[in-house]
Amino acid sequence: PTKPYDDSNIFARILRGELPCKRIYEDEHALAFHDINPLAPVHILVIPKGPYVSWDDFSARASDAEMAGFVRAVGKVARDQQLEVQGYRLLANIGKRAGQEVPHLHVHIFGGQPLGPMLA
Ligand code: 5GP
Repeated sequence: PTKPYDDSNIFARILRGELPCKRIYEDEHALAFHDINPLAPVHILVIPKGPYVSWDDFSARASDAEMAGFVRAVGKVARDQQLEVQGYRLLANIGKRAGQEVPHLHVHIFGGQPLGPMLA
C-alpha cells in the first residue's frame, strides 16, 4: 500500500505558492509547469491539486471529478502545445524503485523530438 501523503514535498510547496514554477496551465483540479531539468525540448509536469502520492494512490482515492479533471488537463496541455501533431509521451513513475523522486503524483509530458521506443 502507498504510504501517507507528506505535504512537505516540493510539489506541495509549489501548489501552496511557497516555491516558484514556470506555470503553463492551472484549473480547479490540476497544475502544469515546466520541468526544472528538461529531458526533451518539451518536458512538462502535470500534477493534481489534491494530496496524492502517486498514480496508485490517486486511482484508489480520488473522486471521479478529480480524476476526470486531471486526465482532461493532461490532454488539454498537450493539445495546447500541439504535441499530438508529432506525437508525445506520457510517463508516471510510481514508487522509488520506478524512479519516482517527488512523492506527489506527476505525469510527465515529453515531446518536441522523435522519442525512442522506451523510457524517457
Ligand atoms: P520523478 O523522477 O519523480 O518522476 O520526476 C520528478 C521530476 O521533477 C524530475 O523530472 C525533476 O527534474 C522535476 N523537479 C524536481 N524538483 C523540481 C522543482 O522544484 N521544480 C520543477 N519545475 N521540477 C522539479
